[in-house]
Amino acid sequence: MSSSITQLAQTLRERRTSAVELTRQAIARAKKLAGLNALITLDEAGALAAAERADAALATNPASVLAGIPFAHKDIFCTNGLRTTCASRMLETFVPPYDATVVAKLGDAQAVSIGKANMDEFAMGSSNENSFHGAVKNPWDTTRVPGGSSGGSAAAVAAGIVPFATGTDTGGSIRQPAAFCGVTGLKPTYGRVSRFGMIAFASSLDTASVLARSAEDCAQVLAAMAGHDARDATSANRLVDDYVGALAKPLAGLRIGVAREYFGAGIDAGVGAVVQAALGEYEKLGATLVDVSLANAALAIPAYYVIAPAEASSNLARFDGVRYGHRCADPKSLEDLYTRTRAEGFGAEVKRRILVGTYALSAGYYDAYYLRAQRVRRLIANDFNEAFKTVDVIAGPTTPSVAFKLGEKSSDPLAMYAADVNTVAVNLAGLPAISLPAGFSANLPVGLQLIAPAFAEARLLSAAHQFQLATDWHARKPEGAA
Ligand code: GLN
Repeated sequence: MSSSITQLAQTLRERRTSAVELTRQAIARAKKLAGLNALITLDEAGALAAAERADAALATNPASVLAGIPFAHKDIFCTNGLRTTCASRMLETFVPPYDATVVAKLGDAQAVSIGKANMDEFAMGSSNENSFHGAVKNPWDTTRVPGGSSGGSAAAVAAGIVPFATGTDTGGSIRQPAAFCGVTGLKPTYGRVSRFGMIAFASSLDTASVLARSAEDCAQVLAAMAGHDARDATSANRLVDDYVGALAKPLAGLRIGVAREYFGAGIDAGVGAVVQAALGEYEKLGATLVDVSLANAALAIPAYYVIAPAEASSNLARFDGVRYGHRCADPKSLEDLYTRTRAEGFGAEVKRRILVGTYALSAGYYDAYYLRAQRVRRLIANDFNEAFKTVDVIAGPTTPSVAFKLGEKSSDPLAMYAADVNTVAVNLAGLPAISLPAGFSANLPVGLQLIAPAFAEARLLSAAHQFQLATDWHARKPEGAA
């Protein structure tokens, strides 16, 4: 399925196809490309029933442009009655009794979920190799990773299985896989989209959003997902902007801050060249480039890898074999139940995070690690605030390299963490950012990241859309995914 949401919605309204037909196509493609391992659960029956309801609505008064459009949910969103594993053995058989707000909202819009997308276990990872269900392959080169943790979502969109998929971004998990798979991924402002029913990793950083083939499609989906939710205490109580209406805003006058720290050592030359060329295109379109500095950028990785594991260690304490999820066989005592349940249920990376996080929060170390990391977080946010006094958006490469080989970094956690060098600061500051396809290096997609002040998603989407009107990088497809 290579058409955009707008095109598909048009075809549906002209009765040239039906929601059931589109859903059948998406399911058939998911099966044909099962080798990518992009989906964990395919919900054929549920999808076809939802498609029939969408067709009924389309025949009368379709409320939303998403009515009848197939998509996939990252397996981190609770789906009522449908297994939600978070790619962990811990939740291998977990069937939630309720829907996440994101799931309910897209359901209300009558978009048709065909199932649940693969991901890194509990969203911890940058390569989608940490999944209990096995690694996802990059549709551009199946010997390479799709990025993580929303790797299944990105691969499903890139391979033309679905026109969009939901994802989450705690430190880059929408933007990094979007860059590696040549799709567009938007991370909204913290609090813009409800976290209710989204399995928690690091609660002060987790954000939900969308991966699609264009900024225009992202705008359509974000419009349906965003909004205040009384069930999420960190949800922002402010009106949702008209993301779709704002797309047409011309670029002329846009001040783009080029953060010199994002082009430093460690950035692959091919990636840097593609991003510079994209910035040249922006200039041609009427934007001005301004040199800016984010002086504390190098501290983002160390601060993030203290704060995120600290919050994860606390959030994951709930998986104890008592309430729900995996439970070891034949526990001999309460301690044995906890120990074996958690030893069996969690994978290596999740255990590593729990150990690091528990250590950083323990008496005597809290001030030295967690508190200090929170102070660094403030410095990082201040750098952005300072830069946004003179520019409208900040640009740089989303990732330091193109998609790396499967297995290349899996035995070296620090090398893996370094893949997030340009993305994690945005989460620490709670800002919105988008990754859009900007070209190719060694035949693999390169992502351009644009960052904006809090709640300026409309600005990001229009800046990306205007670039996509003038270029066709976002329209390129991997072989076999036409
Ligand atoms: N790669 C980062 C990590 O492993 C970010 C993950 C995410 O955004 N969920 O923590």
